[in-house]
Amino acid sequence: MQRERVSENVYWFQSDIYAQVSAGAIAGPQWAVVIDTLMPQETLEIRSFIEQKLNLPVRYVINTHHHADHSWGNCFFPNATVIGHELCRQLLLNRSLAALEAASQDNPLYRQLKIVPPTITFKEGSFNMKVGKKHLKLFPAPGHSSDGISVLIEEDRILFAGDVFMPVPFIVEGDLDQFIETTNTIASLGLENIIQGHGDIILRGEIEEKSKENITYLRAISKAVRTAMRRKNPLEVLDSIGIEACGKSRVLLGGLASELHKRNLHYLYKKTLELEK
Ligand SMILES: [Zn+2]
Repeated sequence: MQRERVSENVYWFQSDIYAQVSAGAIAGPQWAVVIDTLMPQETLEIRSFIEQKLNLPVRYVINTHHHADHSWGNCFFPNATVIGHELCRQLLLNRSLAALEAASQDNPLYRQLKIVPPTITFKEGSFNMKVGKKHLKLFPAPGHSSDGISVLIEEDRILFAGDVFMPVPFIVEGDLDQFIETTNTIASLGLENIIQGHGDIILRGEIEEKSKENITYLRAISKAVRTAMRRKNPLEVLDSIGIEACGKSRVLLGGLASELHKRNLHYLYKKTLELEK
């Protein structure tokens, strides 16, 4: 796992094991807040860094959304209160319990986990909290998933964006228009850094370009799906649309990019078919 101090009392962790997924920590004078969790062994590393190196207990864990790679480590912070979107709570209870059970059958690693849904939730507007001198503003950031939220550290202009900001936008379970809207909102916040849900930190000077690139990609896949659907063999046409043709590189995210791209196309195709019924 990589660890970096992004600003005073603000830390970023990046997984070496799975898809460059991000987590964070904000340290106050008496306790710390964790933003998202990683794979089990890496979540334990985060915990020992905070408890042993910073000498602080973790009082809150914020989940940017319900996906396993961001929230299944909540159980490693049994004394913390979990905060998230109301939909994150519902999705963890309704879907992730069964998903964890299924995952545990195949992989003993998962047997040590327990789903712990947020108990402090919000739906709209923003949820504000203070950690030492820093003000945190949590607000809905849908697009990648309906329950997505981002966390703004106001004084530092650092945003933990969650998966609505990634090297390759990944829309499975999400909504394209919301995705574009949230990306535009994030681009307009006057940020110093964006901590993406996966991948490296985006610096101030790169924000405009990366946001535009993501929106261009989202529009391109939407157009590609509509074009494919007018053809006799839409699925074959879909599979022939490479990621490069939509403006992104296949080497992003350690080579996962092409797989995400393919899933994006199939998701949009299915969703459009359902709408036409
Ligand atoms: Zn996700």
